[in-house]
Amino acid sequence: KKIFSNNDELFEVKIIKGNTHFFYEFHVTKLKKNKKDLGLVYLVRDISKETEAFMELDSIASYDFLTQVYNRRKFLEEAEIEVMMAKRHSSFLSILMLDIDNFKVVNDKYGHLAGDSVIKSIIDICCNSVRSTDIVGRYGGEEFVVLLSGASVENAYKIAENIRKHVEEMDIKYQENKISLTISIGVSSTDSNKVIEEKEFDINELLKKADIALYDAKNSGRNCVK
Ligand code: GH3
Ligand code: MG
Ligand code: MG
Repeated sequence: KKIFSNNDELFEVKIIKGNTHFFYEFHVTKLKKNKKDLGLVYLVRDISKETEAFMELDSIASYDFLTQVYNRRKFLEEAEIEVMMAKRHSSFLSILMLDIDNFKVVNDKYGHLAGDSVIKSIIDICCNSVRSTDIVGRYGGEEFVVLLSGASVENAYKIAENIRKHVEEMDIKYQENKISLTISIGVSSTDSNKVIEEKEFDINELLKKADIALYDAKNSGRNCVK
């Protein structure tokens, strides 16, 4: 006789004990006999190890190892969500594309580890210059991207200029060296009535426009925002 019903329940429970997290999977089955409830069978499985492994893999797949900000893949994933929200609420959204000027020289002069340290310092400046709801990502080697939700083009320009100035004025200490450098920034924004009203933008288009602006900044002598 069939005693297992079809409406089994499956859920997970997380238990926190001090700094340790435990995860359990519960499988609940109703037992019936001649339409009479016999009781419930709880099957509990400790899934702590596999959940932790999954979370670690997810983190490796989402964060840049050197800087611990989002990598390109995760940035794009999160940016898509922000674009959707901006469209829904007809709110502005701006992108900054940043690239270190003549970075090859830093690597050649001070070594690759010094270069890594420079990348980390510049990411710190970016993160400290934006709100916690904005998204910072490492887009490529020495190229970063910032998504500013709700920011008009004027606001985005101001934030970019602030970051640019900060980098220009800072000496990055690496061992006995003081490294000074500059960055170029391209800005793109949905801040035009037409774009917002017609909701005809996507993240790739915004990134492309920011990249064109960055190219313009490089051609205009670097250390500037376009
Ligand atoms: P430009 O002003 O035109 O941007 O010149 P650039 O020298 O910055 O640009 P280019 O693209 O010629 O060189 C970028 C360099 O960045 C080359 C590459 O070795 C270095 N780079 C990329 N990723 C990393 C990294 O993670 N660490 C270090 N140290 N260097 C990196
Ligand atoms: Mg560069
Ligand atoms: Mg580059």
